[in-house]
Amino acid sequence: MENKKLIKKIYAGKRISPREALELFDWDILELGKAADLRRKNSLKSSQVGFIIDRIINFTNVCEAACKFCAFHAKANRIEEYNLSMDEIFQKVEALIEAGGSQVMLQGGLHPDYTAGNYLTLVKSVKDRFPFVYLHSFSPAEAVHMARKSGITIDEVIVALKSAGLDSMPGASDLLVDRIRKQVSPRKITRDEWCEVIRTLAAHGMKSSATMTYGMGETNEERIDHLTVIRDIQDETKNLRAFIPWSFSPANTLMEDIVPATGMTYLKIVAISRIFLDNIPYIQAGWLTEGLKLAQIALSFGANDMGGVLTEEVVVKATGINTRTNIDELVDIIKNAGKDPVQRDSEYKVIRSFK
Ligand code: SF4
Repeated sequence: MENKKLIKKIYAGKRISPREALELFDWDILELGKAADLRRKNSLKSSQVGFIIDRIINFTNVCEAACKFCAFHAKANRIEEYNLSMDEIFQKVEALIEAGGSQVMLQGGLHPDYTAGNYLTLVKSVKDRFPFVYLHSFSPAEAVHMARKSGITIDEVIVALKSAGLDSMPGASDLLVDRIRKQVSPRKITRDEWCEVIRTLAAHGMKSSATMTYGMGETNEERIDHLTVIRDIQDETKNLRAFIPWSFSPANTLMEDIVPATGMTYLKIVAISRIFLDNIPYIQAGWLTEGLKLAQIALSFGANDMGGVLTEEVVVKATGINTRTNIDELVDIIKNAGKDPVQRDSEYKVIRSFK
């Protein structure tokens, strides 16, 4: 049963507390969607839903973290180790440009032999050859890995990446709850280290984002704890452009016995994120992990971005999910959800409208 005081607060556009956010899990799904959709409308005063043409280039799957929830790294024992050569990376960027794309996401495992120098060479080489490509690349875990392997500070890593040509860094935050992190990714960064990287990026004028991987045995309270870390750091830094929640896909991981979260839970998470994260303008509907139909419904539950029309993706594919899409299909899906499709750049500026 919905609490009338809370309904009024949400409809008045006021900030809600973590305790109130927790209550939303018990709301009727349609009431929750209606409230989230109103917050979406009021936040940007627009019915636009954007997408970008981009490419993720996973340059290596060798990773010393070996997280239990990951199906991508070579130790997950279903895939052979690989390290892409610079020529292979160049070919992938060229193919993206031919497809009209503008953004490259270089991401890899935490390779035990790579120091900051390897990552800097990668950035410099791509930027020298393709200066107009926007590099939204690596992750806070990779930044901390670079610092550790080279014996330098996170600040020095970010400064060096920026001067090599990196434009921004995805947030890749998984679940910022140390109880869960200790169980599923004990060798990856902690919540505090993630926050430190975001603060450092902000100090050097480099934008980021935040994600949420839920369905790994956490409680609803811990889900709200995760959102609270993100809202607090956004209040402090104003550095997160977007928030992207997705459900954990257990297939081919060391956590295969976990029952995947339902589509209903996904819609609740999207709606609660929209209402609670009142300081983040873009909430992404995850068509890649949740499927195109559910992503389309999420556009009525507070989401207002479709992310990338990826010309390549291998991390999610490793879990057996193989959803693909293209511009025409995405435009259709957005229009049929009653929204206005736009192609955007990495800074969320509209570059083409399909109205
Ligand atoms: S999630 Fe990232 S850090 Fe963890 S094993 Fe996979 S590639 Fe490595």
